[in-house]
Amino acid sequence: MSRTHKIAIIPGDGIGRDVIPAAQQVLDRAAALCGFTLAYHPFDWSCETYHATGRMMPDDGITQLADHDAIFLGAVGYPGVPDHISLWGLLIPIRREFDQYVNLRPVRLLPGVPCPLANKKPGDIDFWVVRENVEGEYSQIGGRMFAGTNREFVEQTAIFTRFGTDRILRFAFDLATKLGRNHVTSATKSNGIFHSMPFWDERFAAIAATYPETRIDQYHIDILAARFVMSPERFDVVVGSNLFGDILSDLGPGVTGTIAVAPSANLNPERKFPSMFEPVHGSAPDIAGKGIANPVGAIWAGAMMLEHLGETEAAALVMHAIESALADPATPRTPDLGGVGTMSALNAAIVEQCGKQK
Ligand code: ATP
Ligand code: MG
Repeated sequence: MSRTHKIAIIPGDGIGRDVIPAAQQVLDRAAALCGFTLAYHPFDWSCETYHATGRMMPDDGITQLADHDAIFLGAVGYPGVPDHISLWGLLIPIRREFDQYVNLRPVRLLPGVPCPLANKKPGDIDFWVVRENVEGEYSQIGGRMFAGTNREFVEQTAIFTRFGTDRILRFAFDLATKLGRNHVTSATKSNGIFHSMPFWDERFAAIAATYPETRIDQYHIDILAARFVMSPERFDVVVGSNLFGDILSDLGPGVTGTIAVAPSANLNPERKFPSMFEPVHGSAPDIAGKGIANPVGAIWAGAMMLEHLGETEAAALVMHAIESALADPATPRTPDLGGVGTMSALNAAIVEQCGKQK
């Protein structure tokens, strides 16, 4: 019997429901070619569930997901449901309960994708953003204090533990080593943020000392953001706190053309709990159900999932299929790529390329 991986599927809202089934077709093709099976277990949790039940997922949602090798998510969020409901009702509990403390995003210019930066070609922009995904600035600690009319004040606490800081920094250094690109850049702001960022810098230096073969640099977040645009060639692995990593991991896909083609992985590297894979884009209500969403971000997220499951050959096959399809001028392109093609036509071209690559 061939290997089987158990995958929890949460298509979610909007174009999540379009791109996830499309990506499944590509992943299934690659799995068949490489001799394993993906067993999908769908969970219909979304903003619609919230409208019907008052919850994004059932109370035992985390328990239901726990028994899977990975989670494949489309997007959650829809007009009429505030972002904090869809985020805190589903995404953030999954990330935190499954200790998915790494958010990993490749930033790579693909062939055939128009780049907003002049004179850049595939190969010029190719690096990874590693974001701390469970602590830092995104804490619920703090509150609004009322000290009389016009005198209220708000306190928002950021939590940086030594354990949490060290493990994300170590992940970044290990990734750089694994990729054979021994260079890590840290995002900081120790000239403005008094406590947490000097601590971050101190831990970065301490962890870096244990990787003597790896070159390091660090930039304040403001100039780092500028350098993403002015000289993206200089980066290999960039590591940042939850807030800085969040900003950089959207800016990265932004400079490579379109968020529609970018993937994101929420990893529990120790594999104690399932990791979650999703496209960077959201539910895009303006184009939902119209059959014109770009499926590449979801497919690439699926390739990262295959890699995490140990299916390295299939992961590489899917990436080559994406690149060859996009590099071919005859491939139908969705409107976000400047074409007039449908999602199914672009998807079919990628499925077909899987066969040709093998
Ligand atoms: P959410 O609140 O779920 O994040 P959003 O509307 O804020 O959704 P996105 O859905 O990420 O943000 O995308 C913004 C816009 O980019 C969309 O409205 C859509 O026009 C375009 N877009 C996003 N993803 C895709 C895609 N896969 N294919 C084509 N266009 C896309
Ligand atoms: Mg959004």
